[in-house]
Amino acid sequence: MIFLLIGPPGSGKGTQGRILSEKMQLPFFSSGDFLRELAGKEDSFSRQIRLFMDRGELIPDTLMKELFLLEIKKLIVTHGGIIIDGYPRTLDQAKDLESLLLSLNISDSNIYVIELIVEVNELYKRLNERAFCPSCLRVFQFHENICNTCGTQLNRRTDDTMQVIEERLREYELKSRSLHEYFSNRGFLMTIPGEGSIQDIASTIDQAIKEKKVGINKK
Ligand code: ATP
Ligand code: MG
Repeated sequence: MIFLLIGPPGSGKGTQGRILSEKMQLPFFSSGDFLRELAGKEDSFSRQIRLFMDRGELIPDTLMKELFLLEIKKLIVTHGGIIIDGYPRTLDQAKDLESLLLSLNISDSNIYVIELIVEVNELYKRLNERAFCPSCLRVFQFHENICNTCGTQLNRRTDDTMQVIEERLREYELKSRSLHEYFSNRGFLMTIPGEGSIQDIASTIDQAIKEKKVGINKK
């Protein structure tokens, strides 16, 4: 099974993706984590990636296409499925991913797109208050100091500043918003309210997956 998490920055894709990954026993791929690791290196390619990320802009497809698709393909082939957070983010990326899934003989009934809906003021608040664990990459509120899973001192993301948050939300409206209609027309979309407790949202996702499966079996 293939699960794609979409929704604006701060909507909880990473948090819910990790929970789903444990439940489904499938690997978790975060485009943001993948890029942050690349951007942390000191070659010219990494420096280029870092420039876009620091401004809150998407990395152009010309730079990333092969790398993303290769990594995703590898994970699907070795584990039989995947949970993806943050890819696709544009219609072109969505089409590239669908071609890959087709080439791997994955049927439409095994593709689930989970869209998390969160009100914009809440997104600002969450991103402004966000910290992460540099070791296991889990997300926290920054008034917490230590990762509750591995005990590491928490950090803040350099793109979680007011100005860059605004740009990321603008990029989302401009380039990613249209994925809603695209995946809805393809029959893959499950729209989930992303406000409330983490556990409640996870249960709503579980329920939506079960209902979609029942719907598919009835066809
Ligand atoms: P969230 O708050 O849910 O983590 P986000 O968009 O704020 O979402 P990441 O997913 O961690 O943050 O992505 C961080 C940055 O990495 C983006 O601002 C963008 O520069 C780059 N990026 C991530 N995914 C993609 C992608 N699919 N295509 C192009 N650039 C991407
Ligand atoms: Mg994330």
